[in-house]
Amino acid sequence: MTAANVDKKHILITGGGSGIGEAAAKLLAARGATVGVADINTENADKVVAQISADGHDAYSLTVDVSDKAQVEQMYQSAVSKAGVINVVINNAGVDHIPAPMHEVDDQAYMKNIAVNLNGVWFSMKNAIGHMLQNSGGHIINVASVAGLRSAPSVSAYSATKHAVVGLTKSAAVEYARANIRVNAVCPSFIDTPMVQGVLKHLPEKQQRGIIGANPMKRLGTVDEVAGAIAWLCSDESTFVTGQSMVLDGGMLA
Ligand code: ADP
Repeated sequence: MTAANVDKKHILITGGGSGIGEAAAKLLAARGATVGVADINTENADKVVAQISADGHDAYSLTVDVSDKAQVEQMYQSAVSKAGVINVVINNAGVDHIPAPMHEVDDQAYMKNIAVNLNGVWFSMKNAIGHMLQNSGGHIINVASVAGLRSAPSVSAYSATKHAVVGLTKSAAVEYARANIRVNAVCPSFIDTPMVQGVLKHLPEKQQRGIIGANPMKRLGTVDEVAGAIAWLCSDESTFVTGQSMVLDGGMLA
């Protein structure tokens, strides 16, 4: 079977400088897309683009803080001026959960979760929809989390933002289906990224084992497994799929 075809698509991904975003950017570029790698960390975005270019594929980098509405607007203008009509936007930029029970969560940290994980997706979706309405459609893919479908102790703010992203995904999917705009989310569980490794290493060994043991596959997911699902969604093999929150969790929620 051939790989899901994304050839010649212009795909913009936020938070493309590391982890899931980096893996998705590299896979999509290798499959023929032109990929805009946007990140608050310019150095990382440039590094990912340099690696993609060295492999002979097509990418460019942009610096953006997705929590800043004006910067998100600028990101869209720059992306269009670099590679024309945007076919797919992947809203992946995010900050991690605050590991504390709700009554101990600092309000500033809560606001930061809302600003990046929710408002960042909101600003980007509004721009993407405006652009896609003028260009006969497109596809928005939001990187949510299993925490957007089910909660757990000490993830309140993060879980609230991811539930909200799942809600925005469903709302936009039904509002814009007739305009040929698809909107989907992916909901990964613990994925082996620098962010998750950073969280795990601060937990007692027993709790680390508990997290892995709670998964029917007894392992973390990999960034490539998430990137593969995103690539399939980006392709024309998934054209009847919209409003979905695709769970990538090794069977955990089952
Ligand atoms: P994940 O496990 O989801 O891949 P990472 O921390 O590896 O987590 O990736 C998240 C990406 O989002 C990072 O590259 C980070 O720099 C980026 N990011 C975080 N905050 C913002 C922001 N406000 N605007 C744009 N990108 C951001």
